[in-house]
Amino acid sequence: MNKHDHLDGHLPADHPLSPHWQFANLPLISRSLTDYPVNDLWEMDFARLPAAIGKQRRRARQFAEQFMMPVAAEVDLAPHPPVGLCHPAAERILREAGRQGWLSYFMPKPLGSMPWGAAPYAPIYQCCVVVEEFSRACGGLMLLVSAHHLGAMPLVLSGNISTIFRHLLPVYRSCERGDPHLIAFAITEPGAGSDVEEGHGAETSRPGVVATPTEGGYLLNGRKCYISGGDLAKTATVFAALKGEGMESWTCFYVDCSAPGYRVTRTELKMGMRASGAAEIEFTNVFVPESRVIGGLRNGWALNRATLNASRIPVGAMAVGFARAATETAVEFARHYKLGGKALIHYQDVQLHLATMVAETRAMRSLVWQEARAGWQPRQLNTALCKFHATDRAQHVCEMAMDLLADHGGRHENKIEKIFRDVRLSRIFEGTNQINRLSMIEDWQTHLLDLNHPIGV
Ligand SMILES: Cc1cc2nc3c(=O)[nH]c(=O)nc-3n(C[C@H](O)[C@H](O)[C@H](O)COP(=O)(O)OP(=O)(O)OC[C@H]3O[C@@H](n4cnc5c(N)ncnc54)[C@H](O)[C@@H]3O)c2cc1C
Repeated sequence: MNKHDHLDGHLPADHPLSPHWQFANLPLISRSLTDYPVNDLWEMDFARLPAAIGKQRRRARQFAEQFMMPVAAEVDLAPHPPVGLCHPAAERILREAGRQGWLSYFMPKPLGSMPWGAAPYAPIYQCCVVVEEFSRACGGLMLLVSAHHLGAMPLVLSGNISTIFRHLLPVYRSCERGDPHLIAFAITEPGAGSDVEEGHGAETSRPGVVATPTEGGYLLNGRKCYISGGDLAKTATVFAALKGEGMESWTCFYVDCSAPGYRVTRTELKMGMRASGAAEIEFTNVFVPESRVIGGLRNGWALNRATLNASRIPVGAMAVGFARAATETAVEFARHYKLGGKALIHYQDVQLHLATMVAETRAMRSLVWQEARAGWQPRQLNTALCKFHATDRAQHVCEMAMDLLADHGGRHENKIEKIFRDVRLSRIFEGTNQINRLSMIEDWQTHLLDLNHPIGV
């Protein structure tokens, strides 16, 4: 940059009253305390991350920019594919994601693909930096890849070494060979979405998928809906109640999607995240051997809640990616779009607008990283809060970008309208944001009701 250049309403960099460049003239010690490199904000945060997590972040960015970004619009606009088919570009991405380790990084090498340097940190921490990069590139492709980790989470959280070795490792090996084996996570039922994400609703909910004991295992019957990747998955972690019992009997079954009686009846044509199929699945006497009960009989409710606790922080990271994509798009627009003979960026009300968008995005990221760093034992109160706040604020940032681009924002090629459609869904899945607010209070109520307990927030 030429030091004489400046935005309207600001001093040029070489002006005696301008910050930063003037620091260079201070004495040595004072300079060491005041001067700073002119990094962009992403690089600034990169430098603050542990080296191994930062390295994964840079790799994820490269992957997203090289493979996801160039096809995001094409995949989004493609006609809704028939059940079981996925756009060829999305298929290529899945294969490459598998080869590069993006489908197996919840376990350290040699079990999974997580670099050893990242192993001391909660896997969610690494997941958050990766998910942000992917969702910045494309919400749908991000979900296509990320839903697999959601599906695998009950296997990991079962804490059973033999489950991990027998079920998860073959999946990881297959992905790394470039033959993606996706796992879907199936809790939602036509009559129970929020009800399986919040205790009060579950108490009265009638289970929609029921497991009947039979010789050597269980027969599953019923229907699940909105299951991300359920149309392409080879296996699924399916939550079902035991016959004649209520939601407290919920058990996690690791289901082979090619088993007789497993049928994907349709995928939804949804407003956003179109690269990822939301499948309705019908179970008709699907046999699941006893050995594929995950985490023990009647422990499904706990495993489901633990999975959601772990996954709601990465949903916050998705929101950061959307807000960042919207902000970056708005900044680019403001730098290039001319109004009254000068670029929009020179108008101070536009500068105020952009400053707020950047601050909102970085505030979300701070919240997400704070929770992700403590992600070994994610707690419902914190993760629900992180999810609803980040996704709500991300939509607000997208609206600000829309305001700035005005009619240009409604045009597909300017990206904002796609981000807008994608971000809206993140406020619905993993529990609507209303339910996440209730989940936060549910977890907090012991303190709220104890009048002798001082409340700190
Ligand atoms: C893109 C996408 C991907 C998804 N992926 C998956 C997946 O991979 N696996 C999976 O299992 N599910 C998945 N889902 C389902 C998702 O988790 C549910 O849609 C979500 O939890 C909301 O449930 P519901 O749609 O059944 O709404 P409902 O539970 O029917 O809620 C309807 C309305 O009632 C409100 N409400 C409900 N209970 C209460 C209450 N007690 N007090 C006040 N208000 C209440 C809700 O906030 C909402 O406004 C996905 C959904 C989408 C959109």
